[in-house]
Amino acid sequence: MDKFLFLLSAFLLVWGLRLQSDPASASKGNKLASVGMITAIFSAVIMPLENSFSNLIWILAPLSLSGVIGYLIAKNIKMTSMPQMVSIFNGLGGLSAVLLSFAEINKWIIYPETYQLTVVIVLILSLFIGSVAFTGSLLAFAKLDGYRWSEKLSLPFQHIFNLILISVIVGLSYLFITSPDISLLYIIIILSFVYGIFFVAPIGGADMPVVISLLNSFTGITAALTGIIFGNIVMLLGGILVGAAGTILTVLMCNAMNRSLLNVIIGGFSSNNSSKKGKDQGEIKEVSDSDFAVQLFYSSKVIIIPGYGLAVAQAQKLCKEIQEILETNDVEIKYAIHPVAGRMPGHMNVLLAEADVDYSKLIELEQANEEFKSTDVAVIIGANDVVNPDAIDDSTSPLYGMPILKVWESTSTVVLKRSMSAGYAGVQNPLFFKKNNQMYFGDAKESLQRLSSELKNL
Ligand code: NDP
Repeated sequence: MDKFLFLLSAFLLVWGLRLQSDPASASKGNKLASVGMITAIFSAVIMPLENSFSNLIWILAPLSLSGVIGYLIAKNIKMTSMPQMVSIFNGLGGLSAVLLSFAEINKWIIYPETYQLTVVIVLILSLFIGSVAFTGSLLAFAKLDGYRWSEKLSLPFQHIFNLILISVIVGLSYLFITSPDISLLYIIIILSFVYGIFFVAPIGGADMPVVISLLNSFTGITAALTGIIFGNIVMLLGGILVGAAGTILTVLMCNAMNRSLLNVIIGGFSSNNSSKKGKDQGEIKEVSDSDFAVQLFYSSKVIIIPGYGLAVAQAQKLCKEIQEILETNDVEIKYAIHPVAGRMPGHMNVLLAEADVDYSKLIELEQANEEFKSTDVAVIIGANDVVNPDAIDDSTSPLYGMPILKVWESTSTVVLKRSMSAGYAGVQNPLFFKKNNQMYFGDAKESLQRLSSELKNL
């Protein structure tokens, strides 16, 4: 029976992940994977206890309590705080790996003859990676949530210090394996926790989504290692899936930003701001409510470019409302989705899905770049870096080389944002000063509200 349940949960997890690769089926995939996880927990933790009620109560009580807490957090979390939530949950996954490995290493100290050397090495590795994922994720959470102290933890020559620290951990682990002493194990755990903090400390706060994805893959690896140790196939499989998905996502995010992982880890954007930052780049033009509404209403084709600011303002429903008003006047509307728009992969897809925007209206970067030439107005809502021409024109820009949306090839562009502040990369955007661009200042929700009222009056 348990083998069948393992197989079933493995199938549900893999199939769920497969469905999550398409926005149309992502929600179904998520539910399927959840059922897979519940089946896995049931077959791995609850079933082996058979009739021992006293054991069962110790497992069911915390499981139900944590299940309710997890559900409430996930239900109430704001879309823009999603990376923070992933970070905390991921950190807790790392901590469980630490606790499991710690318990098993203690058993090895008492009954050394029952363990092979390779198993002990795997346990220490799992303990180390889990510790790094735990403290690293907590610091990533603090950075994402804007705690100022979290940006001040980096030491001078941090990377050299980190190399020394990791060598000390390896040396102590060797010592521990050759002459097991519990106090040495405590030192290894503390140093691994410290390493987790120093691993994340030099990385810029804005690069945290990439780091979280990397730490997520670390947790997956520890889960897989723990699965090997406990001979639990479904834990091994789940760990491999998380590890592989986290690694692929990290690589995809880096590629989409045209940056290497090393550049992210060393803190690329924060240390290399463009020379043009803050320099005067010419005049900007503002557009009035009525002019903007008229421009849009009498266009044949409009492409909307959503960005991080749309998510902050939570203006996606208003965006859909404006789409519908324009469509009544036969304006063709599309949404150009940049792969790294927002602050997490698929951020814009999820945002627009929340507002029930039809998936067929979403176009990817390559297609959008072909369509801008035939577009009357490109409306950029809370996006900045993903439409910055410096990525093509200025080799000194930190964005140089990143594939971007060439919105300026449209007849005109209108940018909705609150001020002239920079985006994630911390650099000014020459698009704002182009002749065919107009600025529409204000919080995206308030701006779209004004625009919607104007359109309704036409
Ligand atoms: P940006 O961060 O470049 O720009 C967002 C803009 O939104 C800001 O300039 C801000 O200007 C504006 N804004 C913020 N709040 C509001 C609001 N309430 N109303 C209106 N405007 C607002 O966002 P993009 O989406 O263009 O680019 C994403 C960036 O994030 C890229 O550099 C990408 O590399 C990076 N990144 C993305 C990841 C992903 O997975 N998606 C992961 C890691 C990094 P103002 O303050 O003036 O309003």
